[in-house]
Amino acid sequence: MAWYTGDVFYDTALLAGFAYVLMIVLASKFGQAAYGRFGGRAPGVKFEPRLGWILMELPAPLVFLIVFFQGQNSDQLVPMIFLGIWIIHYSNRGFINPLLMRVHTGSKASFNISVVIFGWIATAAHGFFSADFIANHAKHLTPEWLTDPRFIVGIIIYAIGFMLNVHSDAVVRNLRSKVPNPDEPRYKVPYGGGYRFVSSPSYLGEMLSWLGFAIFTWSLAGVFILLVTMANLVPRALATHRWYQKQFEDYPQNRKALVPYLI
Ligand code: NDP
Repeated sequence: MAWYTGDVFYDTALLAGFAYVLMIVLASKFGQAAYGRFGGRAPGVKFEPRLGWILMELPAPLVFLIVFFQGQNSDQLVPMIFLGIWIIHYSNRGFINPLLMRVHTGSKASFNISVVIFGWIATAAHGFFSADFIANHAKHLTPEWLTDPRFIVGIIIYAIGFMLNVHSDAVVRNLRSKVPNPDEPRYKVPYGGGYRFVSSPSYLGEMLSWLGFAIFTWSLAGVFILLVTMANLVPRALATHRWYQKQFEDYPQNRKALVPYLI
């Protein structure tokens, strides 16, 4: 069915992608993805979290690069800028952040294989939808796009989200020693930065990044990854907030789950 770009394969795959989002929303009613603080009890093969993250995220940069460089517009200015943003984003998400993670002895095998496999569907689809749209289908990504308010607003939102995400990941990382001692508690209450307002500022930053991406690419590929991220991270943020409140009696009472002062 050609309803968006005119390319039957792309448009049909995108519809399937939105159906996948619906599946994530339904699945989230049954619990959180089995990694990290919610990874312990789920059955199945479990990876060390750094390996789990790298494996899960790998299709996003790989598929993007393969599809992008086959695209007819891959040598154009705006697509090249988006390529640069993609490389920065996935260098952090797929390699830098996982490699910097400080893994507690209690979480050495906490990343369930089911998360990697379902993650592959999302990361591969995301790489394909974005690269094919940017390098083949988008007609608006000419140099004039760089002065379009949608590009400027989108980039600003993306940058704020990315910085909030990277900073928040650094705050939780620094709660543990470089080589965590088995005697130190696995989890502590994080303070500072976005944690002054919400329990999951890294998730808020991630969602803002993809909101910005959807706006500055002005694409349904961007809407797809924004919805995937929200479907995963909104319920996880709410569950994380409840988890903190249950674990720590002195947990800051005015801290919200995900959106400052609201949710
Ligand atoms: P978390 O903040 O839950 O965990 C990140 C790391 O910090 C883990 O090593 C975790 O250890 C540790 N940690 C977490 N809380 C504490 C604490 N209170 N005290 C000490 N250590 C702590 O984030 P996620 O692992 O869920 O996500 C990592 C990044 O990936 C985030 O930036 C997130 O936004 C992004 N992400 C993006 C998704 C998307 O759909 N685009 C989906 C999921 C995540 P442990 O493993 O032991 O819990």
